Amino acid sequence: MAKRVLVTGGAGFLGSHLCDHLLRRGIETICLDDLSTGSLDNVRHWLGDPRFTFVRGDVAEAFDAEVDRIYNLACPASPAQYRAAPIRTLRTSVLGALNMLTLARRGRTRILQASTSEVYGDPVQHPQSETYWGNVNPLGERACYDEGKRCAETLFADHRRQYAMPVKIARIFNTYGPRMRAEDGRVVSSFIAQALAGQDITIFGDGSQTRSFCYVDDMIDGLVRLMETPDDVTGPVNLGNPQECSIGDLARMVIALTGSRSRLVRRPLPEDDPRRRRPDITLARELLAWQPTVPLETGLRRTIAAFEAALPAPVAP
Ligand code: NAD
Ligand code: UDP
Repeated sequence: MAKRVLVTGGAGFLGSHLCDHLLRRGIETICLDDLSTGSLDNVRHWLGDPRFTFVRGDVAEAFDAEVDRIYNLACPASPAQYRAAPIRTLRTSVLGALNMLTLARRGRTRILQASTSEVYGDPVQHPQSETYWGNVNPLGERACYDEGKRCAETLFADHRRQYAMPVKIARIFNTYGPRMRAEDGRVVSSFIAQALAGQDITIFGDGSQTRSFCYVDDMIDGLVRLMETPDDVTGPVNLGNPQECSIGDLARMVIALTGSRSRLVRRPLPEDDPRRRRPDITLARELLAWQPTVPLETGLRRTIAAFEAALPAPVAP
């Protein structure tokens, strides 16, 4: 059982929920984050708790800590955000992974990489299983993220081969929930924020492209289960919800659940936007006895409630 854990990217959406999970179980947690896409507000409730340490820093730069687990989550995850800072994103993914692996190697620490379904690119195999090598354009606008994450996986696999290190690779599929930033550009946060503000809902392309959305609590449970598997389990393991949904249907669901009068409007489809995405989670079921439990509608209701609670209070007349 873990006693002292480092979470890089711990002030982000997934990282902060992971910190909550660990700290609620009494586990000392160090959060290393440069706050580039995350926020201190996500972990503010732990500041002052003796088991929690926040360090503002870059995952790609020297960092020392004695821990028995490292979750490497630091990296922008929203296409709009990584397209805006491509070289920084690659640097974070590749040098961040190398740096954390070096730290893990010194202490023979177990380390988990937050990889992504984006390693499959615009997949020609559907649903995607871990044996599929993917279809990524190495020169396109998404490549900084996709290739950065692919290279990080290679670094993890090579550290396992060369140094027999206990490494774990999770391939995370689209995950949503409270604490996503309203303005981060990802589809669930954008649609909810637009619906609540009565603004047009921006569908990129014709809305027929699909994603499979996993609620954050399910994802954190999957990540922790993977981390606690025996040393010979490396993965990669797909983690995601196999319930597939078109972007058009997601927009209509958000409108129905918010009671919004927003209109649907079309915007151009970004370059290399994957047409279809759904995880094959057979391996996660077998290795981790894990599968998502929160249906999309339930998760959306919870996320909408959290976004509503974060809206500024109306000014008294
Ligand atoms: P997020 O943007 O909310 O969190 C990322 C965190 O990393 C932020 O707090 C940010 O400030 C921090 N960060 C970025 N660059 C850094 C650097 N150089 N040094 C230190 N900190 C840095 O995104 P998220 O959705 O919480 O994603 C977390 C991880 O999970 C990422 O690695 C992402 O690639 C992976 N992932 C997420 C999803 C998803 O749907 N949420 C899907 C696949 C993979
Ligand atoms: N998308 C959209 N409107 C938005 C944001 C995204 O239609 O305002 C689409 C996007 O083109 C993609 C899907 O929703 O097809 C998921 O996008 P997101 O950025 O959340 O993540 P991705 O899965 O592409 O990494």
